[in-house]
Amino acid sequence: MPTDKKKFSTWLAAEHGVEIRDMRETNFPLFWKFAKAGAFAKAGKVIFVKNLEKLNEESLCRKLCHELRHIERQRSKGWPLYLASYIFSQKFRRDDEVLAYTRNMEFDFLFGVKDRGPGYYVDQMKKIHFLKSRHIRIARKKLNERSRKIENGAFTWVRDNYKKYLGSK
Ligand SMILES: [Zn+2]
Repeated sequence: MPTDKKKFSTWLAAEHGVEIRDMRETNFPLFWKFAKAGAFAKAGKVIFVKNLEKLNEESLCRKLCHELRHIERQRSKGWPLYLASYIFSQKFRRDDEVLAYTRNMEFDFLFGVKDRGPGYYVDQMKKIHFLKSRHIRIARKKLNERSRKIENGAFTWVRDNYKKYLGSK
């Protein structure tokens, strides 16, 4: 990633109208202490990131690509309905995470990260998202399919944004 200009993470946040904040700044002090997730999106406006100051640029950008997918859904569905669906429907949560982890895989593909893949992100979903094994199985199948599609160039959000970023200044 180039270092001669505004960081890609800063650009992503500005381009998509979100604020990046440390998770300690949430209204839920216990959350940042116990949250296993590295980041979460709130109300289509803010992305809270755990240990923000310690994260390297690559990890932060990958998290932003993921959380910005949640943000899109939060904006189209409306925040209260999104939140209720996310909490109470395993199917909704599973599918929303599949969409978001697709961004992680697209990011890894674009930047040549080889040590992650669908299996890695399914494990993340198991650890973080409290999904029943049936939903994990479905998520695994979907992420495997999407991984192949990424290799065939079917998902371009990360690439398009990165190109736009490189062209900005
Ligand atoms: Zn997520």
